[in-house]
Amino acid sequence: MALVSRVVAPNPGPYTGPGTNTWIVDGGPVVAVIDPGPDDDAHLDALDKRLAGKTVAVVLVTHGHPDHLPLAERFAAPHHASVQRYPELRDGEIVRAGALNLTALYTPGHSADHLCFLIAEDRAVFTGDLILGQGSSMVTYPEGDVAAYLHSLDRLASLEPQILFPGHWDPVTEAMAKIDEYRRHRLEREAQVLAEVRRGAGTPTDLTRRVYGDLDDRLMVAAEMTLRAHLRKLVDDGVVRERGEVYEASVI
Ligand SMILES: [Zn+2]
Repeated sequence: MALVSRVVAPNPGPYTGPGTNTWIVDGGPVVAVIDPGPDDDAHLDALDKRLAGKTVAVVLVTHGHPDHLPLAERFAAPHHASVQRYPELRDGEIVRAGALNLTALYTPGHSADHLCFLIAEDRAVFTGDLILGQGSSMVTYPEGDVAAYLHSLDRLASLEPQILFPGHWDPVTEAMAKIDEYRRHRLEREAQVLAEVRRGAGTPTDLTRRVYGDLDDRLMVAAEMTLRAHLRKLVDDGVVRERGEVYEASVI
C-alpha cells in the first residue's frame, strides 16, 4: 500500500468540512501531491514543512474549484513540478511518480472538469468532490450534471475500490457501501423531485419550497440549484416537460 498522508487546508465551512484535503502520496524517492487547495500562505508553509525536503514529482488537481486548485502553480513552481489536470490530462492516462502509477479517471458531474486518481494495485481512489468523507456532494445547476454524476459513481463502483481518499473529511474504508449510499441518496432526491412535479406543475422556486419547506435564503439558493440540476435530467429523460419557467409532468 502506497504511503498516503494529508495536510488539511485552513478553509473549513459548510461545503468544505474541516477544510480541503491535500494528499501527499509517497512514490519512494519522490511524492505526488493531489489538490494543493486554496491560495493560502499558512497552507503552503504547512505543505512544505510536511514534505521535509522530499522531491515533488507531480501536482495533480481533481477539479478547478477555488478550494482545490488555486495554490497549485505557486506550490509546484519551486519544486519544478508540473501541474496536471483535465482536459490536458485525459481519461485513462497514467501519471508516474517514482514507483507510483496514478491513473486519471474522468468523472464529471460535480463539475465538468472532474478527475479522480486511481492507484490500481492498492485499489485506492482519490475522489476529489465526487465522494466526500461525510455528507453528500454538491451537484448543482448550471455546472452540475446529475446524469453524468450517476455515471461517474457507477464507473467508480466498477473498479471495486477498497479505500477512498476524498477531497474533504476522512478516508473511507467502506468504499463500496459509501458509493452505494451516494447513488441511493441521489436517486431518492430525484424521485422526490419527480413526485412533487407530478403532484402539480411549478417553477423551480415553487417546487423548491414545496420539496424543502422553509429554509433560510442561502440554503434556499443551494437547494434550488440542486433541484434545477435534477429537473434538467428529468427533462432529458422525458418524464418532465418545460413550459417557459414552469415544469410539469409529461403525460406518458
Ligand atoms: Zn468542488
